[in-house]
Amino acid sequence: MRYSKARPRPGVYAVRSGKKALSLITGHTFISAKNEYVRKFINRLQKGNLHELKSHAGQYSFDRYLQFPYTVNMHGAPVEVIKECISGYVEAIHKKNKKKPRTYHDWCLYNFGKGYAKHFMFPYANKVWTVNPKRMTVDWIGKRIILPSLEQILEGALHKSDKLMNYITTFEYPVKDGMSSMISGLTKRTNKINYNKKVTNIDIKNKKITFQDGTSSYYEKVISTIALPDMLKIIPDAPSSVREAAKRLIHNSLLYVNIGVDRPNISKFQWIYFDGDEPFNRIHFPSNLSRHNAPKGASAINIEIAYSRFRPLHKERALDQTMKKLKSTGILKPSDKILFQNNIEQKYAYVIFDKYRQASVNIIRNFLWKHDIKTSGRFGEWDYLWMDQSIMSGKRAAEAVQEKR
Ligand SMILES: Cc1cc2nc3c(=O)[nH]c(=O)nc-3n(C[C@H](O)[C@H](O)[C@H](O)COP(=O)(O)OP(=O)(O)OC[C@H]3O[C@@H](n4cnc5c(N)ncnc54)[C@H](O)[C@@H]3O)c2cc1C
Repeated sequence: MRYSKARPRPGVYAVRSGKKALSLITGHTFISAKNEYVRKFINRLQKGNLHELKSHAGQYSFDRYLQFPYTVNMHGAPVEVIKECISGYVEAIHKKNKKKPRTYHDWCLYNFGKGYAKHFMFPYANKVWTVNPKRMTVDWIGKRIILPSLEQILEGALHKSDKLMNYITTFEYPVKDGMSSMISGLTKRTNKINYNKKVTNIDIKNKKITFQDGTSSYYEKVISTIALPDMLKIIPDAPSSVREAAKRLIHNSLLYVNIGVDRPNISKFQWIYFDGDEPFNRIHFPSNLSRHNAPKGASAINIEIAYSRFRPLHKERALDQTMKKLKSTGILKPSDKILFQNNIEQKYAYVIFDKYRQASVNIIRNFLWKHDIKTSGRFGEWDYLWMDQSIMSGKRAAEAVQEKR
């Protein structure tokens, strides 16, 4: 089996770069693998290069920093906001026998009430997903958003606490080389990767793949991690019903701004969510995940700016605003020296779940599988998969291909 990568080197979104300050591209924070198979797989790649960390995330709202998740760490928020959140929550839990929510908008109101929805959940959802939460379904949520009890909410509003109630409370992270160590662990084990081999055409009748460099190759079965919308663009013989299904898939994109600063311990948090008028929705501090992620005396910042066809990116404006907001939110001090900066756009970042997603994905994947193409991974399954789930997706695809032989 050979692997073809569109990009010129392994794990291009996860590599280390920079001169004076190291900056890790994308806010890849955690390895959380409960599944035994994934655990072993990752341990084999990492060979003792992992350390365990307690998660310590922040929320910037109302011009101040709160501990994340804000639902159980409201102490310090404006009193009026706390009152609205708690009274809304109480109202919501008493209405629970009502119809189950179908949209994310209604799910927020159903589980958290008007206050949390208005002050925190809707503003953040609009920012990161780039669409109104009324358009989104709820099938991506799972355990990603914790549902606290009234007691936990009250406790967090009355006292300052560091409650570790999150979708992850502890996680593992590579001591050296960030997430690129995952990729180098993999690439060391095979010499069968062809770089710079972007697939530009798949002839499903003759089972022939053509690459951007003009070369081609015949296949028996294919496992593909190409994003489904891109996949349908390179299969000229796909029927119009399948093409139409692909057009209904929606996603957001991210502009990452990676900055190295000549000051250590720039934030006490590992990452922070922003729900206000900042252009960014989340900032990671890779140097708080491993001291090897920045040189001594420096810090690494990774900023995420979401955009999509629903909210296009105005790059220059976003970059300009980002630098201003880094200062007004206190992350950068006027005396800070920027040692390094790069900006990277990632076309497919998060799949947006709407009412068309599941049916469209089924149509596309069934069609492709009939032609011996198994799609896999986050954008091949068109799902909200974390890394461990993507690894399992690859395993499932390999097994399916073997079974069909
Ligand atoms: C901002 C962000 C933060 C995240 N943080 C975490 C985290 O902290 N922990 C976690 O577990 N998960 C995290 N994830 C999720 C994780 O990144 C994904 O689950 C994982 O990278 C998906 O792997 P994949 O192989 O399915 O897809 P990808 O990594 O996107 O790989 C797709 C591959 O397909 C190749 N390809 C695409 N088109 C072509 C073509 N035409 N021809 C040839 N090759 C092609 C590309 O070169 C690439 O190698 C995060 C995701 C994002 C966006």
